[in-house]
Amino acid sequence: MEVLETHKKTPELPEKARSIIASLSLSTDDYKAIGDLMASSFEAGLKASGGPKPAVKMLCSYVTKLPAGSETGDYLALDLGGTNYRVLLVRLRGSDQEPEILEDVYAVPQELMLGDGAALFTFIAGTLRDFLQANQLSAGPDGERLKLGFTFSFPVEQHGLSSGSLIMWTKGFAAKGVEAIDKAALPIVCVALVNDTVGTLASCALEDPRCQIAAIVGTGSNAAYVERRSSMERYSDSLAGVSDGGPDGPVVVNTEWGNFGADGCLDRFQTDFDREIDKKSLNPGFQVFEKLISGMYLGEIVRLAIKSLVDDGIIFGGRMPESLVQPMTFLTKYLSEIERDPPKHYYSTDQLLTVDLGLKLVHPIEAVIVRSICEAVSTRSAFLVATGIASLLKRIKPSGHVTVGIDGSLFKFHPHFPERMTRKVQELCPDY
Ligand code: BGC
Ligand code: MG
Repeated sequence: MEVLETHKKTPELPEKARSIIASLSLSTDDYKAIGDLMASSFEAGLKASGGPKPAVKMLCSYVTKLPAGSETGDYLALDLGGTNYRVLLVRLRGSDQEPEILEDVYAVPQELMLGDGAALFTFIAGTLRDFLQANQLSAGPDGERLKLGFTFSFPVEQHGLSSGSLIMWTKGFAAKGVEAIDKAALPIVCVALVNDTVGTLASCALEDPRCQIAAIVGTGSNAAYVERRSSMERYSDSLAGVSDGGPDGPVVVNTEWGNFGADGCLDRFQTDFDREIDKKSLNPGFQVFEKLISGMYLGEIVRLAIKSLVDDGIIFGGRMPESLVQPMTFLTKYLSEIERDPPKHYYSTDQLLTVDLGLKLVHPIEAVIVRSICEAVSTRSAFLVATGIASLLKRIKPSGHVTVGIDGSLFKFHPHFPERMTRKVQELCPDY
């Protein structure tokens, strides 16, 4: 009799592989405990004044209104800090017409990410100048400058809606000294400086006014949500002049949840691989939650798990494939490719290991191990994002439906991320 392939029994994994996967798999109680820790971290961030800086910063965006869709006008936009750097012109044409968008996409050269801040901003100014020229954009007839919105996807302590100071670089950036664009003498005025989470919240609110939370799950991870201004004790002075909606009116908070755990509260949930990634990162001790979740790190977690099995002689004949010797060589997109196959199918895993990574022979059990590690790593990420969203929902305590806007390469390209994430939110927050 023929047995359907999906009913095939998965071969028993070696003990060490099982223990690695177990270390990457958190229990329901663990997620609940992490959710509680997160709720306290949100609270501490909102309250903090003086004293030691809280891990989760809960930064004020000074955005007190979300767009309604009736807005009109031409705006330049910059998007720095994700997978790509983009320069855009957005022509808002009111409620009846879709906006028109022109964009240039660049990859930011590594030496600029790590070099001199001045050089990075000279590069940005250069791309803006090219963009203005190519699209024949210039100041208005009475010298009126073009309005620019800058999506800058890093933690910024804002001075107001349109300016702020970088708290620290995250992800792959570590440029020294940061310069203002004004030096480039372009006919431009920056009217808004926003985090990508705040931008995502605003753009999702256009499509669904019930959107009150936005998260990014891409190269980095973070979330923003709509808070009552009266809860933002740390900012009560600087928000005093804002009248939208009265003293209890809305303001968007950029949580910077990526740094959750920097006070050590997540230590007991980290694996050896997480600790090693942190130690070798550009920002050891910081962005602990982000390093468990985001696209910049997931592939490397898998690579380190593979390496520890290779070092023990359990897979690949005890030799690390040449293509995986260097850090960051197991790309996060490989997780998406491997998990695109139906459960317990290993066609893509085999292809990846042989064609892309150059292994001559892959034993069936090796493909099973690699896929199982990928699943454990990406599931933990999706469940942790869900835990964060559940904590924000519990904080907002919505009386009705709330929409959560999500963007980012990992969320968009991983075949199971959205489903796993929503399932876990439901489980942690059955009431909302
Ligand atoms: C940054 C956040 C940003 C997130 C997603 C993090 O590393 O600290 O400001 O929103 O990445 O891009
Ligand atoms: Mg982005």
